[in-house]
Amino acid sequence: MLEEHRRRLEALVGRVSRRGDYGTLLLQGEIVRSVEEVDSPEEWLAMLRLKARDDGLRISTHRSAQVLYARLVRERSQEELVDGDRLTVAVLRATERAQRLGHRPAFLADGVERAVLCEACGMDGYLDAVEDVMDGDVFDLRCEMDSPSGPTLA
Ligand SMILES: [Zn+2]
Repeated sequence: MLEEHRRRLEALVGRVSRRGDYGTLLLQGEIVRSVEEVDSPEEWLAMLRLKARDDGLRISTHRSAQVLYARLVRERSQEELVDGDRLTVAVLRATERAQRLGHRPAFLADGVERAVLCEACGMDGYLDAVEDVMDGDVFDLRCEMDSPSGPTLA
């Protein structure tokens, strides 16, 4: 990883601490989970939608074969909407790239930047959706804790 990206990554992690899933969604504007991380993907997404509705908020949810993703929908300018789309694509691409290498990526979000940390082996990465940066071992090297029962290489 570039030294500049390492520095930004450490600054981001320093700004953000771990929270509950709905709290993370509120504070960071989005949350990403592997399907295998939650007991029931449908119940997990339904829980987020229900809590958001109770709070008078709108969220959009996305589910692929391996990834669950929820994002707060806010009234925004066209420019911000474009960035939101780029963010969604960047986060999904990063998640799937890390998972193909056997990692269990967790994200810390701040604006358009993301710190990515594998919860199994601790490899990390840095993402900037606007500058189109995706850098770090978690995107290039196989997970050190990957097991035969874990995700397989695509
Ligand atoms: Zn890993």
